[in-house]
Amino acid sequence: MVKETIRVYARVKPLGRRQQAGIYSVDDDETSLSSLEIIMPRDLADGFVNNKRESYKFKFQRIFDQEAKQDVIFDSIAKPVAECVLAGYNGTVFAYGQTGSGKTFTITGGAERYSDRGIIPRTLSYIFDQLQKDSSKVYTTHVSYLEIYNECGYDLLDPRHEASRLEDLPKVTIMEDADQNIHLKNLSLQQATSEEEALNLLFMGDTNRMIAETPMNQASTRSHCIFTIHISSKEPGSATIRRSKLHLVDLAGSERVAKTGVGGHLLTEAKYINLSLHYLEQVIIALAEKNRSHIPYRNSMMTSVLRDSLGGNCMTTMIATLSIDKRNIDESIATCRFAQRVALIKNEAVLNEEIDPRLMIVQLKKEIQELKDELALVTGKQRTSELSQEELLQLDELIETFLEDNDPDSTLDVGADMRKIKYCFVHVKQLMKHSKTSDKKLFLQHSSEEKDTNKEAGEEELKKLKDLLQQRDNEINILVNMLKKEKKKTQDALFQLNAASAGSTVLEQSVSTHLEESQSPSSCLKEAEDVSSSVHRLPFLSRQTGGKMSLGCWEAFEVFKRDHADGITIEDSKQLLKQRFAEAKCLGDKLNEVRNKINHLKGEITQRRIQRAALAVSSPSEELNTLDPVEENLRMQIEEEKKSYKTMFNRLKGLKVEIEHLQLLMEKAMMKLQKDFEVWWSEETISLKQEKPEMVRSPNTLTVYPQFVKSSQLLSTNSFSETTRVSPNEDPAGKNNSITSSNPALKTRTPPSSSTSISLTGDTQADADIQAFMKARQNILQKTAQCYSLCPFRLGEQMKFLLQSTIFF
Ligand code: ADP
Ligand code: MG
Repeated sequence: MVKETIRVYARVKPLGRRQQAGIYSVDDDETSLSSLEIIMPRDLADGFVNNKRESYKFKFQRIFDQEAKQDVIFDSIAKPVAECVLAGYNGTVFAYGQTGSGKTFTITGGAERYSDRGIIPRTLSYIFDQLQKDSSKVYTTHVSYLEIYNECGYDLLDPRHEASRLEDLPKVTIMEDADQNIHLKNLSLQQATSEEEALNLLFMGDTNRMIAETPMNQASTRSHCIFTIHISSKEPGSATIRRSKLHLVDLAGSERVAKTGVGGHLLTEAKYINLSLHYLEQVIIALAEKNRSHIPYRNSMMTSVLRDSLGGNCMTTMIATLSIDKRNIDESIATCRFAQRVALIKNEAVLNEEIDPRLMIVQLKKEIQELKDELALVTGKQRTSELSQEELLQLDELIETFLEDNDPDSTLDVGADMRKIKYCFVHVKQLMKHSKTSDKKLFLQHSSEEKDTNKEAGEEELKKLKDLLQQRDNEINILVNMLKKEKKKTQDALFQLNAASAGSTVLEQSVSTHLEESQSPSSCLKEAEDVSSSVHRLPFLSRQTGGKMSLGCWEAFEVFKRDHADGITIEDSKQLLKQRFAEAKCLGDKLNEVRNKINHLKGEITQRRIQRAALAVSSPSEELNTLDPVEENLRMQIEEEKKSYKTMFNRLKGLKVEIEHLQLLMEKAMMKLQKDFEVWWSEETISLKQEKPEMVRSPNTLTVYPQFVKSSQLLSTNSFSETTRVSPNEDPAGKNNSITSSNPALKTRTPPSSSTSISLTGDTQADADIQAFMKARQNILQKTAQCYSLCPFRLGEQMKFLLQSTIFF
């Protein structure tokens, strides 16, 4: 990599015959930079140049004065760049200056004398000379010639066009790839195998440029021309290719628009020229600044094309052409100023080497073959890439012995054969992999055992739930059967009644009302609540459900009780009990009445005695000492009342004994009923299992009654607030019959008429379904238990309470 600033040279054009020279001096120092001093006479320094100064000094790599010949210019300026290009670096030589300062003369040359040849023909000559001399490399040379006019690129080397106007030439556009490399579309690259071919191309380009020149003014002064020599080189047999290019640039005149004194179309042209040079200046200023990240290359086509030449991978040289006559002194100063800024730019030129993959493959193949041949020559054996079966077995044995050997100094020696060494590595890698897989398997086995334990616990729980579910299903089925029977019975009864008394609307109504009541499960509950004290202690039910009552069981019990013979006895006893209780209440009321009456009479007697005592004090008489007939009468009345009280009290005592007796009888009948129900329930369960084995056969198969689930949900969402709760302080006789469940959910519940089977295969699904179903059921059970617990009174207790409140002496 070559890192250096852009080299800047100055060339002073010889003065014309009528031109008056400006005052300048050149200090040509061989060892350091040359300096150019321009003296600005005070009378000329108006406006543009600071009139306070007279002398302007500029430093250049070298200053070529008026007498400098083309060969010297080439040797000093272009030759070093051409050498770099031949070595594989990019190079640029560009001429900058006002129109007529000698840019074209320097870059291309004068047409009159052979010795006036400019940098391009001399460079071509030099390059081809060098290429011919250097037989160590294979060179390929191409040239391109681009003209940029009004921000448009034109290909000057397109052989298909004989342009009469610039617009007829193929237009060249700029393309930028992902790596921000500039590509010029439509710019032809013409191969030149010799100096002559290359010069012909240059001549063709110059001719095209000249023909296409705008007739109004010389386009050449307003356009930029870039002649590029592309060289690629590679050493014979090498895959590495070096590519380099040399731009030889003839820029448009750098004079300012104001000075041209043109207008209209020409002004636009001048603006464009200046605009693109202005952008060139912008780029150069940006490049000269330190830490400047954005360089405005894209602003004009010219800066885009010269991107690499300015601040990139290029050895760049600038020639500032100066027309040093008096009238152009200010432009010369402007050119020098520009040159000073350019001189600050540092470029980094790198060797443009790239590898040709096709050549690389060919080269490597050749190398392999050569090595194989060499190896065969040394070992005396022709080697194939594969090891023989025998060799492989031998290696396996060697590896095994090596791995089993506990001696830390043991080695695995397979000789200097890369195939064998590679095989050993592969083999050991496989062994390592295998042992890792075995470890993993062991780990997985262990974790699966843990999983099994968890699974067992889960399965146990599932089994429990399934058993419970099965039990509930059995209950439901029993109830369904019962309800079916009940319905049939009701229908029969209705039919008989209709037949017996057709036309008796009143009877029909009463019967249907009765039937409705008997059909309704809630009516069963109503009856059950009347004897709730007994139901509380159902030992069988409590035992079977683990302390919790199932709704199915309760309902079944109620229906069973109603149909049982003892049920009728209980019902009779209940009616008798109610009658006796009413009697007792009546007696109690009467007793209270008598007691009040006696108290009243007693009060009258006391009153009478006080009156008589007072009278005796105020007007004593014989009469007052005798018995008072009124008092006697009152006493007799009291005696009468006491008699009736005692009679009634005795009767009430008798009633109490009778009521307690009746209650005991009822309790006894209930116990018998429970036992009979227990036997019947078990029988029903067994027969159901025999009748419908599919319902209980598989633990994974559940029978779900949609209607039941629906009513369960209804039950769970309805509160039992409608049920009347009786407190002990209220009159039990009057309220006792009102302890009924009026829950509409219970009344609307219908037995399931059809069933839907859901087969559950997945354990997770089964769990979820079971839990949902169980939750619904649990809700029903809780609500039912609540319902029954609303009947806290026992008749015996009611009686005691009544008697205690009545008997006061
Ligand atoms: P530019 O391209 O900068 O506008 P040219 O190269 O066309 O200027 O030069 C203008 C005229 O001056 C041309 O006729 C050219 O032959 C002549 N000229 C320029 N430089 C020299 C020089 N160093 N020696 C002799 N003649 C020159
Ligand atoms: Mg020119």
